[in-house]
Amino acid sequence: MENINFLQTKDFFSLNALKCLRNEYLFNDCQLCFERCSYNALGIFKNKIKLFEELCTSCGACIGVCPTESLSLSTFDMSAFIFNFLEKEVNQIIEKMDIPHFGMLDSYHLISLVLRSKRNLFLQFDENNSSKDLDYIESQIKQSNLFLSSIGVEHSLFLKPHVSELQNNSRRHLFKTLVQAKNGLQQNSSVSQKLTQEQKTLPAKVTLFKNSLKLVCEDIVNTQISTQDLPLYNQKIDFQRCTNCVECITFCPTNALFQSATKESIYFQSGKCIGCNICHQVCQHNAIQEEKNLDLIAFMFDKAELLVKFEYIKCDECNNMFIHKNQGTVCDVCKDYAYNHNNMFTLAKDL
Ligand code: SF4
Ligand code: SF4
Repeated sequence: MENINFLQTKDFFSLNALKCLRNEYLFNDCQLCFERCSYNALGIFKNKIKLFEELCTSCGACIGVCPTESLSLSTFDMSAFIFNFLEKEVNQIIEKMDIPHFGMLDSYHLISLVLRSKRNLFLQFDENNSSKDLDYIESQIKQSNLFLSSIGVEHSLFLKPHVSELQNNSRRHLFKTLVQAKNGLQQNSSVSQKLTQEQKTLPAKVTLFKNSLKLVCEDIVNTQISTQDLPLYNQKIDFQRCTNCVECITFCPTNALFQSATKESIYFQSGKCIGCNICHQVCQHNAIQEEKNLDLIAFMFDKAELLVKFEYIKCDECNNMFIHKNQGTVCDVCKDYAYNHNNMFTLAKDL
């Protein structure tokens, strides 16, 4: 029987299935990269993501959409590219010249670029791209502009096609870009390493995004925002439904959810949530739900918010500690026992 390779590569492209959400939780159904690929080079095998090397063109179109940065091009380092771009003080990014594919970007990268450059940015796409590729980058730009305007930033992103004279040289420029980016990776290795080392479990693009927000936090006019249509996530827990089983904490891939040392409370850091939905999938009581509003200050400074706090009391029957929710002083186990064995005691009395 065929086995799954956790690290699959094709030329410059690699898929690290160990970082994939499908590896975090058996029943996770993320297929964002699979949907982005125009060549059917990604598929699902034994409920895990699989690269069909013979079909992959190493274009990089699927990279930006992955919430966990499981996909990469070895020749191109995104953090190095962004910091090199900012140093150049230009306002346009040309696909296949500055970056192999706009599919490598997502709204975290785009918003960070605008916040740090403090100017309008023009993205020039390769006209040979498929409509699927164009739809993707358009949606990321729309989402980014929505976020920028919601926090009062006056600059935006614009999309326009390549000018033809540049198209002729695109292959040569792309090669130059890859080499420059690789050199940039060496030059900016301290920045890249810092981004990955500081947040072992959090994708570097989320850390970049939070750090970019911190740089302009004094200018942000609105810090209470709606998460609808934005790449931001907030969670809440219904006290009555929650049993403190901590399944959500166990499976959260970024440690956005955690328990207090005394095990009585569950806390959440919106700045670490990647919206993978695993906590919702594992909760058997439907206790964790999406919260539509978000405090941007809590997000960018990783403030932990209390989602639920339990009171433990001693059961009158068995003397064990149990979670008290105004349901009396006998635990559910003893109540169930009494209910289930009620007939037995009745029968014994009648004998
Ligand atoms: S987009 Fe990322 S997390 Fe989702 S299936 Fe693909 S590799 Fe896994
Ligand atoms: S809190 Fe839930 S949605 Fe957010 S990263 Fe953790 S498991 Fe995923």
